[in-house]
Amino acid sequence: MENTVQVGTRFPLTIKRLDINGRGIGYYKRKITFVTGALPGEIVVAEVTAVHDRYLEATLHRVKKASPDRVKPAEPLYGSVGGVELNHLAYPAQLQFKRDVVAQSLAKFKPAGWQHYDLRPTIGAAAPTHYRNKAQFPVRVIDGHVRAGLYAPHSHRLVPLTTFLTQRPLTMQVIQVLCQLLEDLAVPIYDEHAHAGIVKTLVVRESAATGEVQVTFVTNSAKLPHKTQLLAAIAAKLPAVVSVSQNINPGDTPLIWGPETQLLAGQPYITEKLLGRAFQVSPQAFLQLNPAQTEVLYTQALKALALKPGAKLVDAYAGIGTIGISLAEAAGEVRGMEIIAAAVADANRNAALNHVTNAHYTVGTAEALFPQWLREGFAPDAVIVDPPRAGLERPFIDALLKAQPKQFVYISCNPSTLARDLVLLTRRYQVDYIQSVDMFPQTARCEAIVKFTRK
Ligand code: SAH
Repeated sequence: MENTVQVGTRFPLTIKRLDINGRGIGYYKRKITFVTGALPGEIVVAEVTAVHDRYLEATLHRVKKASPDRVKPAEPLYGSVGGVELNHLAYPAQLQFKRDVVAQSLAKFKPAGWQHYDLRPTIGAAAPTHYRNKAQFPVRVIDGHVRAGLYAPHSHRLVPLTTFLTQRPLTMQVIQVLCQLLEDLAVPIYDEHAHAGIVKTLVVRESAATGEVQVTFVTNSAKLPHKTQLLAAIAAKLPAVVSVSQNINPGDTPLIWGPETQLLAGQPYITEKLLGRAFQVSPQAFLQLNPAQTEVLYTQALKALALKPGAKLVDAYAGIGTIGISLAEAAGEVRGMEIIAAAVADANRNAALNHVTNAHYTVGTAEALFPQWLREGFAPDAVIVDPPRAGLERPFIDALLKAQPKQFVYISCNPSTLARDLVLLTRRYQVDYIQSVDMFPQTARCEAIVKFTRK
């Protein structure tokens, strides 16, 4: 029977739960079926979009019996672009889902004692829309006009955006004006198929605290035709823009950013404020995307760390130093590391800007520098890690288990790699609690803080 299922086949399905990407899961003749847009408890008509040996993928053809948590998506382009995949789910249920994602990941990797972890309810956002401070959009010419937006799911077809539910409005307004200026000045826009043209991506980042805006043109070559007119027009039309750069990323590459960034106008950074401190951020450096929830996340992380006065702290995966600098007053010494050199320069400047003299940041990987510091005789009392989605590297974990700092906190943006890392970390540490914080409302992305106690 099963081989009669093809792309386009429709069947009724009862949805049991959501997977970690927010898709509904049902079983069609015992075969697991992922239905985009379907919710637990619903009876839907699913339409198959892909047939795999062990599972089916489907879209929602029709809802026969709706979940009480189903809401009408507020984003008109819901379904046409990614980035709002939970917009059909009421916000309180989104928060329950995120806690459940942590539970699902733990059940998959089964770190020691996982059934008994205290999984605290996800802390939601006061404003679950219009929170993203950064728009990083590909630019293309569509019907003779310069457009920026997001790709349709699983494609490189650009869907132009003028507003977007999760974006801070100013980021979208700046994108609109930049597109118009590029069009008026006939600046060559990148063409993926011909590998021709120049401007590939627009990156706009806004400081919520100061209103300053940073613009980066990612280009296919070092050339940027009509640069002088473009910069003059930006100065005239976009007074919030205080920092304009060009990042050069030649060729057909999946990476958005190239290695080289040049300042074109204004200052090399914008200033954001978090927990009462000022932080300068340059174009290539990471900055948390949801400013209001960043303060919630950091407050929870600092509480979990419970730093003792005079402690020696390691701020690993430090970005522009926001976490370590926020804690420096209480600490004896803060050492941080980060692979992006521009971010490390920002972090050291940010320490000085906040009159912090006991925090120092170094360029390098956490997995190389942390073991090296230990070999050199540095004995940290406290460690906080905030790695990218890939989680921690084995040499870092090995070094941590050897050093066994008393205070240890893990901020994770990926429950799967977190659960994987917990398998090793729980050899020496007990998990006190896991506090998830919703940094990305309307999406399936989940952020969590783990507080540990040394066994
Ligand atoms: N703690 C910071 C940054 C977190 S994002 C904040 O809250 O803003 C993770 C950071 O880790 C990024 O800045 C990224 O550039 C950096 N990074 C990625 N891989 C790394 C590695 N192997 N070692 C050190 N830093 C790394």
